[in-house]
Amino acid sequence: MPEQREPRSHDAVAGQAGTVVFDLARARRETPGCEQVLHFNNAGASLMPQVVLDTMIAHLELEARIGGYESADRVQDRLNGVYASAARLLGCDSDEIAIVENATRAWDMAFYAIPLGPGDRILTANAEYGSNYIAFLQRARQTGAVVEAIPNDEHGQLSIAALERMMDERVEVVAITHVPTNGGLVNPAAAVGKVAREAGALYLLDACQSVGQMDVNVSAIGCDMLSATGRKYLRGPRGIGFLYVRREVVDRLEPPLLDLHAAEWVAADRFVIRPGAKRFENWESNVAAKLGLGAAIDYALGWGLDTIRARVTALATLLRARLSDIAGVSVHDLGVERCGIVSLTLEGHEPDAVRAALARERINVTVSRASATRLDMDARHLPAVVRASVHYYNSEEEVDRFCAAVGALAAAHD
Ligand SMILES: *Cc1c(COP(=O)(O)O)cnc(C)c1O
Repeated sequence: MPEQREPRSHDAVAGQAGTVVFDLARARRETPGCEQVLHFNNAGASLMPQVVLDTMIAHLELEARIGGYESADRVQDRLNGVYASAARLLGCDSDEIAIVENATRAWDMAFYAIPLGPGDRILTANAEYGSNYIAFLQRARQTGAVVEAIPNDEHGQLSIAALERMMDERVEVVAITHVPTNGGLVNPAAAVGKVAREAGALYLLDACQSVGQMDVNVSAIGCDMLSATGRKYLRGPRGIGFLYVRREVVDRLEPPLLDLHAAEWVAADRFVIRPGAKRFENWESNVAAKLGLGAAIDYALGWGLDTIRARVTALATLLRARLSDIAGVSVHDLGVERCGIVSLTLEGHEPDAVRAALARERINVTVSRASATRLDMDARHLPAVVRASVHYYNSEEEVDRFCAAVGALAAAHD
């Protein structure tokens, strides 16, 4: 656990409960990028903590000195430990974890493994991620399955009552996004889990934006499969992601792609698929990134996911309130529960122009476009939004500076 200190104005802040003291000074000290940029692009890729950087560089140096295979052998125990860390993070067992190149590949390996036939139903939600939706459409075209979106409730999250009404024996899979790429919404993932489990449908959760910013526990949620990435709220490296597959369903899922790591070639005409979730991996991997992922997970667990969530939520709430006070700014986040992603538009300024103007002041945000979450964005007539995503190492002073910059842009238009 991080050391606890008394709050000092902007140096530390009381958590939501008013009892937890968050050691902001330590978080910033251990994040070298904090001195360079005002980074509100944590939903894109967070700034890595020093320990992740050190872990990766040390392994790359080892590879350069003694050889790639030889250094992998030397760190074998630590590599096994990465699976144990991911399992601890998600509340599952190590053999239920696959580590792959990114969250999309993780999700694809699970989704394309689900048997589908004509008339089978795929249920998703309005905030679904573009890559996932493209896969739904492709498999619907290939198999005759149909894809249907669960309507939102009055708060803009997926409606559990509507989901209950939609369930029948033709629903093969419920595949939703926990936290969308384009806003602060947190979908009611555990309530979906109850409905899916009762109806006997598979449940695939895209937790790419939620893992690392809140406690995501697969048994509490009741999902069968879950995908996550390294570089976003977990603060790990790029080019690494992971998949959880529940032990009880893994044997029903034949990976769409196999190699000699995912399966064993046992006779000239025969192969046997590997047991457990590693059947969704492939042989070659970025060992330094894998170790970096492990370091990032351990670092997040050290802070505590509930502590992280309280801090991220408090900062995002502050940011939304401050932005709403600026004339011309609209904040677009939906849902009952909101997280660290804040989406906004500024009247009279294209989102790309806002991003570029902020970048000139070394403020990092990104632009979420309709094509990444089309059902949701089209329904709200939003072609694009500016996405400002905060993490626990961001400061209240940065929220002030960010809002001053947005305010100056707004004023420049008047
Ligand atoms: C970023 C993102 C993904 C894709 O993750 P990658 O690691 O880039 O493959 C999937 N779903 C959501 C909701 C995302 O925000």
